[in-house]
Amino acid sequence: MDGADAARIEAKAAAFAPPSSLREDGRIDLVGLSRAELEALLVEAGMERFRARQVFHWIYFRGVTDFGRMSSIARPAQARLAEKFVIGRPGTVRDERSADGTRKWLLRFGDGQEAETVYIPGTDAEDARGAVCISSQVGCTLTCRFCHTGTQPLVRNLGSGEIIGQFMAARDAYGEWPTPQSEARLLSNIVLMGMGEPLYNFEHVAAAMRLAMDAEGIALSRRRITLSTSGVVPMMDRCGAELGVNLAVSLHAVNDALRDRLVPLNRKYPIAELIAACRRYPGASNARRITFEYVMLKGVNDSEADARALVRLIAGLPAKVNLIPFNPWPGAPFETSGEGAIRRFAAIVQDGGYAAPVRAPRGRDILAACGQLRTDSQRRRKSAA
Ligand code: SAH
Ligand code: SF4
Repeated sequence: MDGADAARIEAKAAAFAPPSSLREDGRIDLVGLSRAELEALLVEAGMERFRARQVFHWIYFRGVTDFGRMSSIARPAQARLAEKFVIGRPGTVRDERSADGTRKWLLRFGDGQEAETVYIPGTDAEDARGAVCISSQVGCTLTCRFCHTGTQPLVRNLGSGEIIGQFMAARDAYGEWPTPQSEARLLSNIVLMGMGEPLYNFEHVAAAMRLAMDAEGIALSRRRITLSTSGVVPMMDRCGAELGVNLAVSLHAVNDALRDRLVPLNRKYPIAELIAACRRYPGASNARRITFEYVMLKGVNDSEADARALVRLIAGLPAKVNLIPFNPWPGAPFETSGEGAIRRFAAIVQDGGYAAPVRAPRGRDILAACGQLRTDSQRRRKSAA
């Protein structure tokens, strides 16, 4: 049944497909193509295969956007490439910095649609690496009650180039591409926790993450990538089998009546099915724990009884629980739990044997914190397109 469900989800995703990589000027944007596709295209254009491999390296290892800077490629070949291809980046419409160092970009893609990307610097002195929080969709089909993105209807899925392009644009902004003298240090983690439900756009998310993990390019380990889902059960299996990245699950409630209300997707995939999918997730070992995200909503899901039920629910699962104080947004129908309630909740979960860090809100002042992202993009009417 799950297989049929997964096929249905993929078919639905096609209705929100991103634009093709063929641009109006007739050139093809190479960013987002798989390595095999890119090499095949360049070979077809008359390039030797080992040169095509070098181009991949220039694009994804060195972050070069100008064929003229590919010094291992002969000048005439550079010119031929530039006639047919581009190495695209999303445009930056707005670039904001929070007092706490968090940075948010409003990015615009080729067709004018917009999404937000956030860089959250590390706070750990031992490991200063931060994370780039990437969007997978413009808007979201789901309507989790506490989430600002959920108030923006789904406009369309982002393509693989637009997804990996967010990370590449962030590296551009910090000059964080490795050079012969230095390696990229700061921007070496990806969290798929921006706008949208990544498992409703699995094909493009997976293609983008394969590019992020390719050893000849950005070369991030799958341990440095975390995908957050609101609980699209049939696609969790595929995510585990095909990508094997870290999984974060937006739980937020421990009984179906409440979760139905907070995360309406729960009506389709209730808690028992969700937890079963977590237990099946490959590599769910102590070294690779599943993260449960739990937004702390005052008087809604933050009681001591909720905390005890949470411990019972995930018993035996290698997991940690990220407690996220609710981040407010204009018109939001909730309040953040009080400090005491959060402390008591965390203590019960810890006594139950689970790490329960409270996620410090980052970038609230620029609406860059979890669940605060939203853009003005709207779905185009078919007739206008
Ligand atoms: N769609 C995916 C990933 C994006 S949201 C998902 O739902 O998992 C990243 C995390 O922020 C999720 O756990 C989400 O539930 C949480 N979140 C959403 N709105 C929030 C808010 N206002 N305050 C705190 N966390 C929020
Ligand atoms: Fe969509 Fe995630 Fe927000 Fe829910 S929490 S509306 S799934 S982005």
